[in-house]
Amino acid sequence: MKISPVIKKSIWFAWLLVVPVGIWITYQVYPPEQVSIGEVIPFLILMSVVAAMPLVVNNTPIFLIQWVSLAVFLKHGIFIEMVLMQVSVLTLLIRLRVPKSDIHKFPLNSLMFFIVSLFSGLLFYALGGTHGEHLSSDPYYLFLGAVYGISNFGINTIILVSIQALLFKLEGPYFGKDFIWETVTTIITFPIGFVLYELSKDMGSIALLFVGIPFASLSIILSLYYSSDKVNQFLQSASEIGHQLAERLKADEVIDLFVQKLIEMLPVDYAYILDVEEERELKLIHKVEFGEVLDPVAAPLEKGKGISGLVWAEKKPVLYNSKKEWNQINSGYIPPSAESILSVPIVRNNQVVGVLVLAANKKRAFEKSQLMIVDILCSHFAVAVENARHHEKTKENSERCALTGLYNYRYFENMLSVEFGKLQKGERDLLSLILLDIDHFKSVNDTYGHQSGNEILIELGERLSKRIGNIGTVARYGGEEFVILVPDMMKGDALKLAEQIRLLIANEPFTLLQSMDEEGKQLHVSITSSIGVATAPQDAEDSLALIRHADRALYVGAKRSGRNRVAEYVK
Ligand code: GH3
Ligand code: MG
Ligand code: MG
Repeated sequence: MKISPVIKKSIWFAWLLVVPVGIWITYQVYPPEQVSIGEVIPFLILMSVVAAMPLVVNNTPIFLIQWVSLAVFLKHGIFIEMVLMQVSVLTLLIRLRVPKSDIHKFPLNSLMFFIVSLFSGLLFYALGGTHGEHLSSDPYYLFLGAVYGISNFGINTIILVSIQALLFKLEGPYFGKDFIWETVTTIITFPIGFVLYELSKDMGSIALLFVGIPFASLSIILSLYYSSDKVNQFLQSASEIGHQLAERLKADEVIDLFVQKLIEMLPVDYAYILDVEEERELKLIHKVEFGEVLDPVAAPLEKGKGISGLVWAEKKPVLYNSKKEWNQINSGYIPPSAESILSVPIVRNNQVVGVLVLAANKKRAFEKSQLMIVDILCSHFAVAVENARHHEKTKENSERCALTGLYNYRYFENMLSVEFGKLQKGERDLLSLILLDIDHFKSVNDTYGHQSGNEILIELGERLSKRIGNIGTVARYGGEEFVILVPDMMKGDALKLAEQIRLLIANEPFTLLQSMDEEGKQLHVSITSSIGVATAPQDAEDSLALIRHADRALYVGAKRSGRNRVAEYVK
């Protein structure tokens, strides 16, 4: 949530204008009556302790302090309650480790609670409320106490919603789950406030222990309950993510999904994935900062160097709560604004194959339990990436010719029918097929040997790929036959292209790398080729006919007419 500097300044200004003077005037108008410091300090301690232990539900701290403030108010009046509330707000914000960039939350909350204290107090007095009565002696007094409690919570809510709507321009719903939670817990705790008040009237400060200790314990138990609930939820989504990762067939997709899910689950500002390259160094392969995927440029890291190098060397995850803890070991690519860091080795077959680094600008952004979840996710990730890479490699192998690296016949046929489909759907206008066969290749083999023949095939593949680039697809069709598919090219242009290719072969001898002549010079061989061209839809109505007709042009038009020439299909 970004807030403009103007608004931040206005918040400070409003606080300065209202709060100090407001508290002073409150003191003048409603001075506390016969209060000793000894009575107030225990309340202050209780309030600070309660404030320091917020119940965090869904990342929202619930500030269960109104019950203490109710007792303080009934006993000591508006001024003492106001001051104690201010101290508690301060305690809470310090406890929540508000980052420097959010420092305006101090005046904002102080101002808000000042208004809450002031208005609910004024309402109480307006209805004739006084201090120090026994709740049991007058039902009206009990009613006033309840009014105080309700208005306290009500005004607080109204201000919070207004701040969200007007200042932060957050879209609703404002009365969601968090709100219901807060209302319920606040209502439940108000009676404790009455008990505390009555008991402290009779017993003095010791009452605070009687009420405070059970409350604090309950608070701790609830926090534990929620953290285990949270871990359960994390575990559940971890296994879901594991399944989703396993479904992806491309390594890049697996990486993207993995990082995206981590960002959704944890308060991550920066995410990096590093790959262990040949057991030698760590290379940054994925970089996301504030949800944006960036180019992963960074110098490679040695084992044991930097945070990720250490995680690799020690095979152990690390969790840093603030910059102090890792400043000495930083290696470069982590931005200086980062505070919290969580880094986990990506392990497969007991070997570290990579390192994940998550960082956040906030201090204490990650918890120990999250480290465990990320660790589990990393093992899912390691397997999923390995499988995807394997799948990609197998697919690549099944599509390519091992000698030339060109696409093979199987891939080509598949692609041809896909392209033909596009033609039939009107997504393409034309489809030209150029079929090429080397002339008298058998005698090349017979003269120079099969290995030299292979070298020629490799070089020819390179020449073709270079010439065609991305205007079409080159494939090895068979032994010394090559095929080129060019979409959306007029037949005349396809013929011109074929002629250029013929010259590209005939005009430049091929180098035989492993053969020398008697004088020890590199051997060169000149070859020629015959080429047939057919274009759909004019020459063929289906993919098989297109191949057949190009083949016919090649054999009848080019080979039979003397070789080293280009021929087009004629009906
Ligand atoms: P032409 O096409 O001009 O009629 O004569 P040709 O000698 O090229 O005859 P054809 O196309 O029928 O013969 C193909 C020859 O190509 C047979 C084989 O020796 C050679 N050949 C096929 N595949 C390979 C290969 O992978 N490596 C090598 N070195 N030679 C191959
Ligand atoms: Mg042939
Ligand atoms: Mg041939």
